[in-house]
Amino acid sequence: MVADNIKNIFDKIDKACSRCGRSSNEIKLIGVSKTVSTERIIEAYRAGLKVFGENKAQELKEKAEILSDYDDIEWHFIGHLQTNKVKYVIDKAEYIHSVDSLKLAEEIEKRAKKISKVQNVLLEIKTSDEVSKFGLTDIDEIYRVAEFCKNSANLKLIGLMTIAPFVDDENVVRNAFINLRNLKEKLISEGFEMTELSMGMTGDFEIAIEEGATMIRIGTAIFGARSN
Ligand SMILES: *Cc1c(COP(=O)(O)O)cnc(C)c1O
Repeated sequence: MVADNIKNIFDKIDKACSRCGRSSNEIKLIGVSKTVSTERIIEAYRAGLKVFGENKAQELKEKAEILSDYDDIEWHFIGHLQTNKVKYVIDKAEYIHSVDSLKLAEEIEKRAKKISKVQNVLLEIKTSDEVSKFGLTDIDEIYRVAEFCKNSANLKLIGLMTIAPFVDDENVVRNAFINLRNLKEKLISEGFEMTELSMGMTGDFEIAIEEGATMIRIGTAIFGARSN
């Protein structure tokens, strides 16, 4: 079942890409495995998915430890990260998508430095009001955090992430993605180097691909509805 779901998503990615003249190689599918057991993650792994995203620090740590033999799994941290929990994910997460404060960037830099790692990070941007409590909104603050990342040897700022609002109006969703893309272009034009747009979930990933997503984060369409 998980295998069928994954195949289905890859088909949809291909179709969305051909609709807008992109190559599906440009899209990284992240299987969002929050609340999902390690047995079912292995099922997805056997079906060819090697990239997983978690939104709780301890959960990522525990699962990565249990699955440490699967050393080609790539872990992404996608949730709100409290500074006191950076230590749980720093040696596990290849990417942290959700840098939403200078304080958090500073803590990640400190911890990455300790283990001589260059941590890939994305800035989480709040592109609409109703969606999530977290994410940067203030443009000056966005520049401050981006600048800090740029000047930190142990941080590599690779892009921006957002969660679009959960509304039926497709244009509202699309606009959130367009806003994120425009912000990325603006930052690039001002000397920040970044390539990634982490946007699109089960309900909206095809729109996200049309608007330039390079990383899509899909849980429900792969693993089914979550009970919590
Ligand atoms: C849960 C979650 C997802 C996946 O959501 P689905 O709708 O189940 O695909 C994506 N991104 C973040 C940040 C999440 O917390």
